[in-house]
Amino acid sequence: MNVEAPAGALSKESMGRPFWNQRLETIPRAQLDALHLARIQRLVTYAYENTAFYRRKLDAAGVKPSDIRSLADYKRLIPVTDKSEFIGLQQERPPYGDTLALPPDLVAHHCETSGTTGVPLAIPYSMVDTVRYGESWVYGFWGLGIRPTDTFYFAFGWGNFAGFWSAYWGARRLGCRIISGGGLDTKGHIQAIQRMKPTVLISTPTFALRMAQVAKEMGVDLSQSSIRYTYHAGEPGPTALPGMREQIETAWGAKAGELLGIAEVDAMAPGCPLGDGVHVNEMNCYTWSMDPVTGGESAEGEIGENVVTSYANTAQPLLNYRTHDLVRRRESGCGCGRTWVKFDGAVLGRTDFMVTVRGTNVYQTAVENILNQIQGVSMHYELVLTHEDGNDVMTVRFEPEPTLDAAHWDAVASDASDRIHKALHVRLRCTPVAPNTLPRFELKTKRIIDQRPKELRRALDR
Ligand SMILES: [Zn+2]
Repeated sequence: MNVEAPAGALSKESMGRPFWNQRLETIPRAQLDALHLARIQRLVTYAYENTAFYRRKLDAAGVKPSDIRSLADYKRLIPVTDKSEFIGLQQERPPYGDTLALPPDLVAHHCETSGTTGVPLAIPYSMVDTVRYGESWVYGFWGLGIRPTDTFYFAFGWGNFAGFWSAYWGARRLGCRIISGGGLDTKGHIQAIQRMKPTVLISTPTFALRMAQVAKEMGVDLSQSSIRYTYHAGEPGPTALPGMREQIETAWGAKAGELLGIAEVDAMAPGCPLGDGVHVNEMNCYTWSMDPVTGGESAEGEIGENVVTSYANTAQPLLNYRTHDLVRRRESGCGCGRTWVKFDGAVLGRTDFMVTVRGTNVYQTAVENILNQIQGVSMHYELVLTHEDGNDVMTVRFEPEPTLDAAHWDAVASDASDRIHKALHVRLRCTPVAPNTLPRFELKTKRIIDQRPKELRRALDR
């Protein structure tokens, strides 16, 4: 793991380099895989020896750490783990069940998943874990152009949400000045930015747009503000949704970046500077894709569920951990020069929210991308899942732009339905609802409302 900044990181020459750590980000695949195997062998032994949870699990599968002689062995022999197992054990014996691999007094930070339904997952981090998580952000920050001379503004009320705590660890790691917006309201954030002149905004992507809207109402043009970069996590953002990238970059006059993070795993995949995908930080994580139907490994370029192993979480190890995120995985290199695995378009959907309509798989981001491009449709919409006559049904409920005359709502709805039909080969019901009636969120915008019968839901709130 790279914990020390590369020598001379602040020299003029270093500041101009496109990589935070070129040697690690461009390491040849064969070397990277050899490194993964060595680290995984150590990690499996560590998890087996230090947690009753993994000892039980591996013993039940009849596997010993010494059985892992290749990455193929690892994927085949080590049983997958799932969030629900951890939550179950934590509920039996709070706060961490018997999944903790360290003495409790070495837990340096505690977070919880920010889900709006269900039971939260408790996530412990050691001090070293927090440094490693932060490092993942630095790769993304640097790739976008952010340097130690920048000033970060966190438009965020902290809470227990790991996403932006780890961004904070990253900003510290990079050596930047940090300003916390804390519990200010939207107007307060805008005034603080005008007063303090930060150069980097950290927020959820929808909150960046919300701020832009409120600023407009205040008569403030944020494209003329001091912000030069915006960086996002927590919900589908500029990589998955090009329409959203354009809106954010225009409103803020800034370059927008994004990172795919999973609270219990790592800030695992910083955005590619080319903007069309995210790169797994392979210094912190090992990943493979699972075919959602067969459970076997899916081929490169096919859509599969991201299964991840974290080297960043030593407090609560995660082996072959199911993320329920659907990704299209590439190992064949990238135009930006990085050799790390790339997920084209970031996360394409969730296994628990993948709806099959008349034999076609429909992904949340695919629908959102289309809605983003339609004139007259605002950024406020939700996708409602129901089950009717034996089929999953997805209904798109959207707020038309407030300036759009109500007489045109139905035409916009039918335009949306036609475009979705053309692009995805399924017809979805599109229903306009009055402006300002859908709920607003400052943290994670809840786009999917699952109203299917409980037994049909596989949703594990993340
Ligand atoms: Zn790239």
